[in-house]
Amino acid sequence: MLSPSWGVVSPASAEEIRESVRAAGVVGAGGAGFPTHVKLQAQVEIFLINAAECEPMLKVDQQLMPQQAERLVRGVLYGMRATGATQGIIALKEKYHAAIDALAPILPPQIRLHILPDVYPAGDEVITIWLATGRRVPPAALPTSVGVVVNNVQTVLNIARAVEQHYPVTRRTLTINGAVRQPLTVTVPLGISLREVLALAGGATVDDPGFINGGPMMGGLIASLDTPVTKTTGGLLVLPKSHPLIARRMQDDKTVLTIARTVCEHCRLCTDLCPRHIIGHELSPHLLVRAVNYQNVATPSTLLSALTCSECNVCESVACPVGISPMRVNRLLKAELRASGARYEGPLREADEMARYRLIPVKRLITKLGLNDWYQDAPLKALDVEPSQVVLPLRQHIGATAVPSVKQGERVTRGQCIADVPQGALGVPLHASIDGVISSVTDHAITVVRG
Ligand code: SF4
Ligand code: SF4
Repeated sequence: MLSPSWGVVSPASAEEIRESVRAAGVVGAGGAGFPTHVKLQAQVEIFLINAAECEPMLKVDQQLMPQQAERLVRGVLYGMRATGATQGIIALKEKYHAAIDALAPILPPQIRLHILPDVYPAGDEVITIWLATGRRVPPAALPTSVGVVVNNVQTVLNIARAVEQHYPVTRRTLTINGAVRQPLTVTVPLGISLREVLALAGGATVDDPGFINGGPMMGGLIASLDTPVTKTTGGLLVLPKSHPLIARRMQDDKTVLTIARTVCEHCRLCTDLCPRHIIGHELSPHLLVRAVNYQNVATPSTLLSALTCSECNVCESVACPVGISPMRVNRLLKAELRASGARYEGPLREADEMARYRLIPVKRLITKLGLNDWYQDAPLKALDVEPSQVVLPLRQHIGATAVPSVKQGERVTRGQCIADVPQGALGVPLHASIDGVISSVTDHAITVVRG
């Protein structure tokens, strides 16, 4: 099929699209790394692109969309063909002017833009679906239960490359922001260390920096800058170790529970602002904090509802006036519940009439998080990034660990498959991200040295 606007669209069938996507090792780039070819097996009505990027310091999707608008549209068409979807929606924010200007003129009739308010967490997929379609995903259910499949921008670009060029996932685009000399957004080979990524931004500007993988709300603390970039690395946020966003992440579980026990005022602000609660989920963080403080005051259903927490961090970083982290309390409860094989089943209740107004304006969020001094643009730069070696973890996806198919001393080329999951297992293959020689193969990772 030829279109003057989107270029040539491959005639690949739904099955061929899924196989190309699997062979290219595509996983959900915005989340935990769920294999995309499995997601594309669902048959739904709407193929939704989550382009909200509502974590304040991250600037990837909003810059990739204008740069690769036609590829994005073609990727949406492939996703729609694979899932049988009749509607494609790209949900993005009004402030992404360049993306809107690039996309709006080239959209085919079956794809539309949906303009999201500039609030957090517009990018939590349950909230994105609600804002973009009016449909509410029931607690503990998948988006497919309301006829929707959600993918993020980098994933859809990878789908298009996989279908059209059989181009495997060997690169990741990420933002390096915060206390760095030259904040930027850059595409790097998978397996490069975060230390080298930090150097691309000119290094830290503070003496005692702490590091977050991803955004200030949902990103996790980075224990070592030797950690390699993977298919799901969210970004590199640098802040002084004394910054509350780092300090709170460094609190151990015992401290978190002690604070929850001593100071909860039962004001229930955490519940009133919980994005899941306001759209009709049972999840009520103030009841879960109470449950861990006073044994046996919660019903089994209340306790199990901890499993439906998205860990969006609103309750900890925005709502609670006394420094409690209901999110961390939930995380501890979740670990216990999952270990016992528990599952949550509960109804979808009425949504809060004021729900839309309870989401957090991003400008307010930046101030609340103490990020005004660190908030800066991070322009997309095309750099030749050529690390001398890459370390490629065998598990960059949900499912089975990939099994190496190469040996130490073997020469490999960029894009060559070096590990794959056993036939029929959930997972995707892994590819060399640089030309070089395999210097080590362990149970966890394959190292390639350039040369
Ligand atoms: S982290 Fe807190 S606010 Fe977010 S979903 Fe969980 S309980 Fe609700
Ligand atoms: S917001 Fe804080 S003090 Fe208020 S109920 Fe929730 S945990 Fe307790």
